[in-house]
Amino acid sequence: MSTAKRIDGKAKAEQLAESITEQTAALLSEHGIKPGLAVVIIGEDPASQVYVRNKKRRAESCGFYSVQHTLAEDTSQEDVLKLVDELNNDDAIHGILVQLPPQSISPSKDVDGFHFVNIGKLTAGHTSDAFIPCTPAGCMLMIEDELGKDLSGKTAVIIGRSNIVGKPMASLLMQRNATVTITHSRTNDLPGVVKRADILVAAVGRPNMVKADWIKPGAVIIDVGINRVEKTIDGETKYRLTGDVDYDDASTVASAVTPVPGGVGPMTITMLMFNTLRSARLAAGLEG
Ligand code: NAD
Repeated sequence: MSTAKRIDGKAKAEQLAESITEQTAALLSEHGIKPGLAVVIIGEDPASQVYVRNKKRRAESCGFYSVQHTLAEDTSQEDVLKLVDELNNDDAIHGILVQLPPQSISPSKDVDGFHFVNIGKLTAGHTSDAFIPCTPAGCMLMIEDELGKDLSGKTAVIIGRSNIVGKPMASLLMQRNATVTITHSRTNDLPGVVKRADILVAAVGRPNMVKADWIKPGAVIIDVGINRVEKTIDGETKYRLTGDVDYDDASTVASAVTPVPGGVGPMTITMLMFNTLRSARLAAGLEG
């Protein structure tokens, strides 16, 4: 029996993308600027190709200028850095994505928010010109829809301490006055800690790990996990995606849960567009 609200990340991402598209058109007509996103991909790994194609498609549908540089697997690091340097200095480009440590990208074009400068600004609370990593930024918007901007008095628990999800998520929740606990693989009594959460963000990578009896009644649950699980139906092996939270089980206790797929995933890619538009605005001396 499911009682929790299903948080529709896909619909929210579509709405946000419409607003980004409108703002992009206005930036072009009023200031002659088109946000530009460059993706550098090294090698022909099919999974990365799909990932990049989706980003390119979304960028183009928002009205951005979008370029993809596909380099051979054996391209030297020096040549990759040379290309990144050209993009750093290209005024038509406002966001750069590259499968390298992000320190080679100019912090002002680091729309993933992984550069040490952007991490430092987020941690210090200087977010007026920082790029916030896309997944936690998208999670925060969904939390805000459920609980408002001020999370004073709320307890938030994050499962997972990665640099791209867990840690920035903690900074964002703290800035909104939540009381935050980060848990991870070495945490004792994880279900007991999770049970205190008014807000739970699960970013682990273990299918259906979080069960109903871990959850505080009425909690808001954001499931970041994306796990491919195998299922054999009539002798045929099929794959489906599932989160870190057992959705049906959790829905009997929580007040709202994000599904997988259709929750955090679509928000992540849209936040990348948000950051790229923001970068173009900041580069033009406008408010981000
Ligand atoms: P990661 O592998 O870098 O980190 C996983 C974290 O989980 C680690 O901090 C580890 O300590 C913790 N962990 C592992 N086993 C645990 C256990 N048994 N109990 C408690 N904690 C445990 O992962 P990541 O990059 O943060 O991604 C996490 C998940 O989120 C993955 O499934 C990934 O595919 C997904 N993800 C989704 C999006 C999206 O857009 N929806 C974006 C990024 C990551």
